[in-house]
Amino acid sequence: MSRPWRDAWPLAARADDRNHWVTGTCWLYCRRRDVRVLWIGSVTTPGATGDVYGCGPCVAELAHMARVQAHERDRIPDHPEGSTSARWAKER
Ligand SMILES: [Zn+2]
Repeated sequence: MSRPWRDAWPLAARADDRNHWVTGTCWLYCRRRDVRVLWIGSVTTPGATGDVYGCGPCVAELAHMARVQAHERDRIPDHPEGSTSARWAKER
């Protein structure tokens, strides 16, 4: 099955592109402080809600992991989470 959209995903955000980057702590893998970070979403724990920021390399790694997971879903027939294309269709 042809899935041209799968290989045409946009690049992950990069520091100081047109997104709203700020200087702060990376909440993802590197945990560095005083680096350029981008708000990527919020997290809710049993006791608090917080804003999650990631630096350029960590945002790129996160995007890579999401893409690998999407490929895995599409590779396995009848994957319990459904194929990425089916999920996209459902969300739109
Ligand atoms: Zn980082």
